[in-house]
Formats: sequence, structure tokens, C-alpha cells
Amino acid sequence: MNFNELNLSDNILNAIKNKGFEKPTDIQIEVIPLFLNDECNIVAQARTGSGKTASFAIPLIELVNEDSGIEAIILTPTRELAIQVADEIESLKGNKNLKIAKIYGGKAIYPQIKALKKANIVVGTPGRILDHINRGTLNLKSVKYFILDEADEMLNMGFVDDVERILNACNKEKRILLFSATMPKEILNLAKKYMGDYSFIKAKINANIEQSYVEVNECDRFKTLCKILKDKEFYGLVFCKTKRDTKELANMLRDVGFKAEAIHGDLKQPRREKIIRLFKQKRIKILIATDVMSRGIDVNDLNCVINYHLPQNPESYMHRIGRTGRAGKRGRAISLINRREYRKLKYIERMTKLKIRRLKIK
Ligand code: AMP
Repeated sequence: MNFNELNLSDNILNAIKNKGFEKPTDIQIEVIPLFLNDECNIVAQARTGSGKTASFAIPLIELVNEDSGIEAIILTPTRELAIQVADEIESLKGNKNLKIAKIYGGKAIYPQIKALKKANIVVGTPGRILDHINRGTLNLKSVKYFILDEADEMLNMGFVDDVERILNACNKEKRILLFSATMPKEILNLAKKYMGDYSFIKAKINANIEQSYVEVNECDRFKTLCKILKDKEFYGLVFCKTKRDTKELANMLRDVGFKAEAIHGDLKQPRREKIIRLFKQKRIKILIATDVMSRGIDVNDLNCVINYHLPQNPESYMHRIGRTGRAGKRGRAISLINRREYRKLKYIERMTKLKIRRLKIK
């Protein structure tokens, strides 16, 4: 299928072409026509890398009017993701005069208030959005489209009450689209409570990612990591359990000559944005992160993800590996485990229905 079979305007077809998208991804083939031509609510199971953002951004650009105030709101769990979603919409809107307001914490509030006065589409994180609602600087009564991105992450990060408050502050007649990489019970309950009937779409699990694990003795964990990182082509993320681990590991790697950086919650927003920028420019090729900080790091050609420590649960595993093998490219995910962690790995394998092979590193 091609984009020009999807009933899109010339303006957006041009923008898609300029962005270099050749063919719609699976999730786009399903979501675009349903969002564009139907009146239904949509629940879509799709991870980052599947092209999910454009799957709602493209119809949204077509549907939202230029002169009718705020018609769409997109909630994301993190600031980084809010920035990416807003950038994706900006880059796809072509010459349609849509104003997109980015609303997240860690930034001054007054420029946001100004942006909200002109906005057609609001993209932001729940805390700051609620803040604006409470100040009376954001009115959602004209919202027609409510999009909840990475709903499972919203849940994990404890934002569900905030999301419900924002949903209740919107016009009742809105359509709701919910995107989530995993579908735990709580998400389905949320969908049932607010969406009534909805169409359910599930993207294929990406087969582009070769997954493996390496069994290590605890004292060899760091050495094994160094061996993997010696690959000159390595460009990816290394996941640790805590932010303290990320700092320590980055220091240890730098001590032995690797150019590695850690991204964690203690860094101020401008520093975090700078590290992400350098990483995107490949001036840093090894980024050490925790689950929270990795959300929404949207870099398409990462070729490897390493679980230096296993994630807490299968959902996090899915999110972590979803940082590679994106937009049709190939990627590798390698988990380092000690003997005691083997059962946890098998549990992840069972729950995600993925095959994780054993890899031996000499
Ligand atoms: P997402 O799943 O929305 O995080 O998108 C992952 C990346 O794939 C983003 O950088 C998009 O710009 C890119 N992308 C989205 N749709 C396509 C497409 N049809 N062809 C190629 N790349 C795409």
C-alpha cells in the first residue's frame, strides 16, 4: 500500500514525501483510514518505532481546523515524548497553518500561556496541562480529539488520576484514541470507562530485532559489556536499574576509554536535552539510561539495546527493546544475566511471547 491510496490531501502527501517516508507502516495502514473516515474511538496496541505517532498525526492534521481554537489534545508520559510528538506534527503539517503548543514542566509558564491562546493542537504532559487548566489558561471545551500516547507508561508513572481529570475537563463529544505498547487490565478498564465502544488495532511485534542473552558471573558483568561495546558500529542504549547505577556505569566506562554519557532524572532539563541532541548527532554513541529516562528517545538507527540489568517487568522489556529495530531497520537487544536472573528472563520471554536466544561471548 502507498500513502496516496489513503485519501490524503496533496499538502500532506507532499509533507510525507519531504520527510522521506516511502510507504505507510502497518499501524498507519490501519489507523489512518479509521481515524480519518470513521467516527469511532480507537485503542491501538503499538510500540514506539512502529510509526504510531504519524498514524495519528496525519489524520489529525487533516481533521483539525485552522481557526477554531484547541481541537486536539495529546497527552504523553514524558517531556521528551511531548517534544517528539509535537515535532512530528510540525514536520508533517506542510503549509496548513496549525499552531501546536508544547506544554510540559521544567519550562517557564508564561510563554506557554501565550502559545495556548493561539493553539489548535496541544501536546503535553499531564502535570503541567492540569496546572494550566487550574489556572484557567487552558480551556478544553472545544476539544474534538483526545489522544493518549503510551498509556501504559502513564499508568506506570502514576499519572492515571491526572489523565482522568483532564479527560473530564474536555468537551463530552470528543473522540478518544489510546495508544499503548502493552495492554494491562488497568488500560482496558480505562478504555471501557471513557471510550464505550472502540475499534481495537494491534500492530505486529517487530521481527527486526534479534534478541539474545549472555550469562555472566557478577564479577564479569562490566567486562562483558565492554566487549560488546568494543564493536565500532555500536550505537545504542545501555539500561541500568537505578539512576545511581547509570552514573556509576558511565564513569566506569569513561575510565576505560569509552565515550559514554548517562541520562537520569537528576540532570536539569537543558542538560538532558543537550545529551539527547548529541546522541542523535552520534557525537555520543553510548547512552546509559534508566527506564524512565529512555522513554521517548526517538532515534531511528540505534542498532543495539543492552540490558545491563534486567528490567522490572515484561512491559519494560518491550519498551527497552523498542528503542532499536525502528522504522523498518534491524536491531539487536542483548540482556546480561547472572544465573539467578535466568528465571526472570524466562518469565519475560513467556509473557512477551518473544524468543530470546543464548549468546556466548568469549
Ligand atoms: P514512532 O513509532 O511514532 O515513534 O515513529 C518512529 C520513527 O519512524 C519516527 O522517527 C518516524 O518519523 C518514523 N516513521 C514514521 N512513519 C514512517 C514511515 N511510514 N516510513 C519511515 N519512517 C517512518
